[in-house]
Amino acid sequence: MKTDTEESHNLAARCPHLVEEWDYERNAPFKPENFRFASREQVWWVCRKDQNHRWMAMIKNRSYGQKCPWCFGNKPYHGRFIWIPYN
Ligand SMILES: [Zn+2]
Repeated sequence: MKTDTEESHNLAARCPHLVEEWDYERNAPFKPENFRFASREQVWWVCRKDQNHRWMAMIKNRSYGQKCPWCFGNKPYHGRFIWIPYN
């Protein structure tokens, strides 16, 4: 039987680098294992370089390469990535 959390579609399996930036505190009780790759759900992320870098973004955007907006200098709602800063 196929499920949404089957390994081939599972975010954690497809994007292990995103697991490191998953904000377990704010997304609780949800984990990367609970979502599909490129899901349209908005969740919280925390930068692996600086714990103060937190933002909300669609899993889809992150699946396709969005990086920390603080480290990479993006502005809210600028460009193709939509994110909401948290501080
Ligand atoms: Zn950062």
